Amino acid sequence: MVDLKKVEQAVRLLLEGIGEDVNREGLKDTPNRIARMYEEIYKGMDEDAAGHLSKTFTVESNEIVLVKDITFYSICEHHLMPFYGKVHIAYLPDGKVVGLSKLARTVEVYAKRPQIQEQMTTQIAEAVMEHLKPQGVMVMAEAEHMCMTMRGVEKPGSRTVTMAARGCFSENPQLQQYFFEMVRR
Ligand code: ZN
Repeated sequence: MVDLKKVEQAVRLLLEGIGEDVNREGLKDTPNRIARMYEEIYKGMDEDAAGHLSKTFTVESNEIVLVKDITFYSICEHHLMPFYGKVHIAYLPDGKVVGLSKLARTVEVYAKRPQIQEQMTTQIAEAVMEHLKPQGVMVMAEAEHMCMTMRGVEKPGSRTVTMAARGCFSENPQLQQYFFEMVRR
């Protein structure tokens, strides 16, 4: 749960720290506005992927399921600046599948918190393995980091790609190849 009062105090201090006048017209409501915004952009901290991934359906044949281009917005925990892009998730079921929207919900759980992209990618893969128990899963995330494009090396348009493969996807290069072909299509 976001402590609205604490965040408001912190934002006021932060504005003072950069030399702003916190009482001027344009900034008057900013601390409260940011505190309420944080309830939304950090709401994954109060959520658990288990709730989304535990409602499964039985299937007779195990064919690869791929959900690609799941848009996400997250906050880099090193700079508290946004990073955002797409996540692609594929899994090979072991008799059970989950509603497709639940994979997108799982991405939200791990995106909406202070995060690093590498960790978000593995957390999604591990949540799918743990709760859905497929034969394997592969997750790829592609993102632009504001802390790289707006400051520091200032390289707009550069994308960071991270991957996590578990189960059959980590053991079978052909499955991985198939995943890349499907994602690029
Ligand atoms: Zn950063």
